[in-house]
Amino acid sequence: MLIVEQFNCLGGVATAGGHAQMTIFNAWGDSTRVVGGIPYEIAQRIEREGFGQLRGGAVFFEIEPLKFLYERMARELGVETLYHTFFCEALVENGAVAGVAVQNKSGRRILRAKRVVDCTGDGDVGASAGAPVEIGRPGDGRCQPVTLMFTIGGVNWDCVSRWRKDYKMKEVWARAQRNGDMEPFQDQVMGFWWTPTRPDQVGVNFTHVIGVDATRAEDLTWATIEARRQAFHSLDVFRKYVPGMERAYMVSIPHTLGLRESRRLMGEVVLTEQDMLARREWPDTIGYGSFFIDIHNLDGPGMAESTVRPEPGFRYQIPYRILVPRGVENLLCAGRCVSVTHVALGSIRVMVQCMLSGQAAGAAAALSLREGVSPRNLPVQPLQAALRAGQALLSEEDIARANSRSAFSVA
Ligand SMILES: Cc1cc2nc3c(=O)[nH]c(=O)nc-3n(C[C@H](O)[C@H](O)[C@H](O)COP(=O)(O)OP(=O)(O)OC[C@H]3O[C@@H](n4cnc5c(N)ncnc54)[C@H](O)[C@@H]3O)c2cc1C
Repeated sequence: MLIVEQFNCLGGVATAGGHAQMTIFNAWGDSTRVVGGIPYEIAQRIEREGFGQLRGGAVFFEIEPLKFLYERMARELGVETLYHTFFCEALVENGAVAGVAVQNKSGRRILRAKRVVDCTGDGDVGASAGAPVEIGRPGDGRCQPVTLMFTIGGVNWDCVSRWRKDYKMKEVWARAQRNGDMEPFQDQVMGFWWTPTRPDQVGVNFTHVIGVDATRAEDLTWATIEARRQAFHSLDVFRKYVPGMERAYMVSIPHTLGLRESRRLMGEVVLTEQDMLARREWPDTIGYGSFFIDIHNLDGPGMAESTVRPEPGFRYQIPYRILVPRGVENLLCAGRCVSVTHVALGSIRVMVQCMLSGQAAGAAAALSLREGVSPRNLPVQPLQAALRAGQALLSEEDIARANSRSAFSVA
C-alpha cells in the first residue's frame, strides 16, 4: 500500500493545516464514546506519548509530534509513503481506475494500482476518473469559508481562561470593530486550541475568507494572501483586547489553507442531514458520526443559519456505500469528499469521522482484492467483521460494550 502526499507529512488539516484539535469521539453533548478503531488508537497514543490531551470527546495535541507518530504508525503497518508528489490524473481502463498519474521532482509517472482510495479532501481522483460530483450549496455551489490557522506564543493561558466568559468572545470583537481597530471579517472565535504540553501557545481558528473555490489554484492563492493578512491583523487585535495576550507573537502559519468544503463524490448512497437527525440505521454501517451540523457562514462572518445543534446523545450511523463513488470501479473515497449533502457535510467533515471512513475504505480495498470483487460488490459482513476486529464501533451494542469498560475521560 502506498500513500501519495503533496506535502511532507501525513495528517492533512491536522498537521499540514495546523489544526490541533480532533473531534469527536463522543455522542454529541454527552460522555458516551461512539468511535473506536484507528481514530481512538491515535487518541490514546497521543495521550500516552504525552503530547496532547483527551477532553470532552476531543483531542488537543501538538502538531509536530503528531506528524512523527503518523510516520511511525505507517511504518508499523507496512504502509509506504511518497511525499512531495502531486496527484494529476486518474488512469481509467474499461470503466475501472487502474492507477494514477503523479508529478514530482522525478518528473511525471504512472503509478498502477488495483484499488485507489481518494483521500484528497477535494475528490481530485474521483473527479478526474469521471465519478459524479457535487460542490457546495445547492443553487449557487458556494462552499463553506476557508481558514488559515495560526499559532501564537507568549500567551498567559490561565489569564485568558479566567477572563474570557464567553468562549467565542463575541462582545470583544464587536467592541474592537466599533473602535475601528478590527475589520469585520469575523465576529467570533472558532477555536483557541490549547494543550498543557505547550502551555504558552494557542492555535487560533479565526481567519475567515468567503467565496473561495478550493478546486481553483487562483482562488487558493488569493485566499491564502488574504487569510495571512487577517492572521497578522488578528494578532494586533488580540494584543490590544485580550488580557493574557498582550505580549503574544506569531509562532507559525501552516503552509496550506484549511478547507472545509469542496467536491463531494456521489456514491451508491447519499447521506443526508435528515438521515443523520432521524438517526437512520444502515445495514452496511461502518461506524458513527456525532458532531453537530457545523456550517460556517458562506456569505459573511460567523456561523450559518443552517447550523443544527442536536439534542445531547446525538449520533448517527455512517453507511459504507457513501465511500463508493458511482460510475467507475475500483475506486473508494474517504474523508471530506464522501457522498453526502452540503448540509450533512457540516457534521461528517470532522477529523475523527474522516479517519473512521479512511479505516473502512482501506479495509474495503484490501478485502475486495482478497474476495476478487469490485468494492461496490463487496459483501458487508467481512468488512464489518474486519472493522470490529480492529475495535471499531458499528452498533449500539458495540457502543454499550465499549463504554462499560472504557477509561475514556470527559471533562
Ligand atoms: C479551519 C478548520 C477548522 C476545523 N476544525 C475542526 C475541528 O475542530 N475538529 C475536527 O475534527 N475537524 C475540524 N475541521 C475539519 C477537518 O479538519 C477536515 O474536514 C478533515 O481534516 C478533512 O480530512 P481529509 O482527510 O478528508 O482531508 P485533508 O485533511 O484536507 O487531507 C487531504 C490530504 O490530501 C493531500 N492532497 C490533496 N490533494 C492532493 C493531490 N492532488 N495530490 C497529493 N496530495 C493531495 C493533502 O495535502 C492532505 O494531506 C476543521 C477544518 C478546517 C478547515
